[in-house]
Amino acid sequence: MEFANKTKAIMKKNIVISSVLLFAIICMSSVCNNANGTKSKQQISAMENQTNKNPYYSRTDTTKLNVSNVEWKKVLSEDMYYVAREKGTERAFTGKYWETDELGTYYCAVCGNRLFVSESKFASSCGWPSFFEAVRKDAVEYHQDKSFGMIRTEVTCGRCESHLGHIFDDGPPPTGKRFCMNSIVLDFEPKK
Ligand code: FE
Repeated sequence: MEFANKTKAIMKKNIVISSVLLFAIICMSSVCNNANGTKSKQQISAMENQTNKNPYYSRTDTTKLNVSNVEWKKVLSEDMYYVAREKGTERAFTGKYWETDELGTYYCAVCGNRLFVSESKFASSCGWPSFFEAVRKDAVEYHQDKSFGMIRTEVTCGRCESHLGHIFDDGPPPTGKRFCMNSIVLDFEPKK
């Protein structure tokens, strides 16, 4: 009788240990999945552009592009086309990079042109990813924008001429500039 009770107790103990181990394994697997999920979201968007139906996307070719909007419409998503080619603006605090503070490089999501590095990104309260300088002088171009009854300076990609956002004079040192960009036209590549 005593032997039977002891066996039962050992079995119970084993069941408890197995349950705890199983729970730990499930938790760890969930954490891993989440980590991969977050990372791959940004990488997928970049990879989609590089390998998908956009033949103009290149991170090495710096030749200026002359592609019609009819053609861009075929290769860009509706949301990207709206911002890049119709000068649209994504809603503040909704884009994928406004809060990103990881080290890495930001490319034009339309053509792959290198635009900004994370070292020039700063925490702005405006709700859009903000940088105090472009990675090189000809990475972007500037145009006067008189839309919506305001006079602003529009920033476009130096390679594909897509609309990226606007530049303002209320940025931090050393330039005092704030490149206020739309996340959807940026591709972020984390530093390896
Ligand atoms: Fe571009």
